[in-house]
Amino acid sequence: MDFLETNEQQLLRSTVAQIASSFGHTYFEREARSGGKGTALWEALSEAGFTGVNIPEPFGGGMGITELAMVAEETAAVGCPLLMFLVSPAICGEVLSRFGSEDQQQRWLPGLGSGSSKMAFAITEPNAGSNSHQMETVAKRTEDGWSISGTKYYISGVDDAENLLLVTKTGTDPQTGRGQLTLFVVPTDAPGFTMEPIPVEIVATERQFTLYFDEVQLSDDHRIGPEGGALRPLFMGLNPERILSAAVLCGLGRYAIDKAARYAKDRSVWGVPIGTHQGLAHPLAKAKIDLEMARLMLAKSAWEFDHDLDAAESSNMAKLASADAALQAIDQAMQTHGGNGMSTEFGLATVWGMARLLKVAPVSREMILNYVAIHTLGLPRSY
Ligand SMILES: Cc1cc2nc3c(=O)[nH]c(=O)nc-3n(C[C@H](O)[C@H](O)[C@H](O)COP(=O)(O)OP(=O)(O)OC[C@H]3O[C@@H](n4cnc5c(N)ncnc54)[C@H](O)[C@@H]3O)c2cc1C
Repeated sequence: MDFLETNEQQLLRSTVAQIASSFGHTYFEREARSGGKGTALWEALSEAGFTGVNIPEPFGGGMGITELAMVAEETAAVGCPLLMFLVSPAICGEVLSRFGSEDQQQRWLPGLGSGSSKMAFAITEPNAGSNSHQMETVAKRTEDGWSISGTKYYISGVDDAENLLLVTKTGTDPQTGRGQLTLFVVPTDAPGFTMEPIPVEIVATERQFTLYFDEVQLSDDHRIGPEGGALRPLFMGLNPERILSAAVLCGLGRYAIDKAARYAKDRSVWGVPIGTHQGLAHPLAKAKIDLEMARLMLAKSAWEFDHDLDAAESSNMAKLASADAALQAIDQAMQTHGGNGMSTEFGLATVWGMARLLKVAPVSREMILNYVAIHTLGLPRSY
């Protein structure tokens, strides 16, 4: 067992950190609040070849989810948490790399590999929620392809994406009554496709949308994998999404603890730095320990995924542990800053919403606990 990162990985981390810190949290916060998409940051990372490092080498990548997680973590660690990493290169990139036909890979992967094109991911629906089997977005066969109708909501970054990977229902299993799901790549300029922004209280460069599909016509070469066979690609693809969520969360945790440690050394109110008081020092030390434990599970989950092992358990655990650790770190960093913890200038309250979101999405804390209870511990299902 080797816990050391390779020279290449260390260089990747330091180069990403250098690029992202030249933008920093002030840039990120201003972009997010003014409706910007963080394009300059994304382009700088893309030009250096980092936004699609996990995409197969012929299409511009050549590394793994481990390295993509490093890119996302280092970017978040300087106050620029990007949700786009979770969806475009992680879930969409991995699904297309493993389940797309050669033609489909030639068509969509070069853009994801270079970062010049983004793909959103749409599974969540108003009436189905965490129970995707109940989804109502249907794809029906037509003479020359498919017709798609339905609604998705809380879909990130669609206004910045050329395509989206869409989960649809194409039938119902007569034995289980569960939906038979099929994946499609839908161009965001397809006739019949419209979207409406959902205002949320999160400082993010990706906006959220309700999507409406009104008999959107697609040729069959937009279908990814077999008809009714989306579960396998989805079960595989949701793991990198969870791993990347954990990476962004670990980056945010580091960002908060670094800021808090600096402030606790600099700020004196009773003649000594406030970090002298164990009431502040111990919770920060505990937050650091929990964060490093979450980072270990993050590394394990990415390693398992890259070695084609079943990474479901570790990805779920990494995501839950990272959300808890990041929220604890941000909360304690805010406490360390006193009143300044709430200010825009000190940049802590402005990352809380992102970390809090990642406790719910892309999979909620409760659904992770259900997974571990049922699959790891063998306990009966409650639902
Ligand atoms: C800002 C933002 C961005 C998002 N981006 C995307 C995106 O890009 N693409 C996409 O497809 N989706 C996206 N989502 C949706 C997100 O993945 C869902 O909100 C999340 O999976 C939870 O689903 P839900 O909101 O329908 O909650 P519900 O399923 O309605 O659940 C509500 C609560 O009940 C709990 N619950 C539900 N079932 C059980 C159970 N069996 N046992 C115990 N507790 C249970 C849940 O854990 C949760 O706490 C985004 C959401 C937000 C807020």
